[in-house]
Amino acid sequence: MFDNLSLKLDKAFQSLKGQGRITEINVATTVKEIRKALIDADVNYKVAKEVTDDIRDKAMGQDVLTAISPGQLLVKITNDELTSLMGGQSEDIKIEGSPAVILIAGLQGSGKTTFSGKLANYLKKQGRSVLLTACDIYRPAAIDQLKVLGEQVGVEVYAEPENKDAVKIAKAAIEHAKKNNHRIVIVDTAGRLAVDEEMMDEIARLKAALNPSETLFVVDSMTGQDAVNTAKAFNDRLNFDGVVLTKLDGDTRGGAALSIRRVVDKPIKFMSLGEKMEAIDRFYPERMASRILG
Ligand code: GDP
Repeated sequence: MFDNLSLKLDKAFQSLKGQGRITEINVATTVKEIRKALIDADVNYKVAKEVTDDIRDKAMGQDVLTAISPGQLLVKITNDELTSLMGGQSEDIKIEGSPAVILIAGLQGSGKTTFSGKLANYLKKQGRSVLLTACDIYRPAAIDQLKVLGEQVGVEVYAEPENKDAVKIAKAAIEHAKKNNHRIVIVDTAGRLAVDEEMMDEIARLKAALNPSETLFVVDSMTGQDAVNTAKAFNDRLNFDGVVLTKLDGDTRGGAALSIRRVVDKPIKFMSLGEKMEAIDRFYPERMASRILG
């Protein structure tokens, strides 16, 4: 994850490290290299420019030119900027209501069903009683996939394979949860290969009908700029509460992780680094920034 970006940033700082005194030109050159590294990692151009302009301004404001180790100070400023770019504080999901409903949205193939299973596993391990609900009414295979995952993590899966009304299925699942003392209902929804009106209408209807305490948008980090555009389209329509970045274990350039927060102004709450049910982690901007800067 982020190997290329880390390497390029390291290279950008190399010329400053060990130098006792640097000039404005040194700073400008390094900042330019940082910008290039971010853009190469698929960070939105506007975001990369904003971030590096901030790094340059802060570097000048904090007397990098007279600092004892200017290279280190610039690394720290960059670390702080990347942390703030990714949202600063880590944010937890909201679990409210009886039962609390968590709605999972995203494109087909983004990792929604896998993440639903992982989230159920994660919450179950915290001692909560969870019900998974299969609301992908278009792909029978998606229902089976969720059932397999539910079995794997020991969480009940509610499904009505013959029913083609996602809202009715989800409402019945909530009733089922009430009767069986499940405190959380995770609703896995249908996705399409690209944003389309029908999908957006359906997920918007689900959100309005279920009043979830948390709506999570799941996005494949490997899709680069598309990830950001898709996030924007879903957020405009759904006003979701948080983002889940999947497939960060892949050979991703990581731009999604770095630009989504700034573009949609919603926190990244979880990340997923693999297909296993245990591969789910809370997202901590500071840890991610440190990881990127090595
Ligand atoms: P959905 O269509 O959005 O429900 O997506 P799925 O959950 O079916 O995931 C699509 C594919 O991506 C499956 O083959 C998953 O095993 C895989 N996948 C999901 N999350 C991850 C991840 O974090 N890392 C990797 N490498 N693969 C993942």
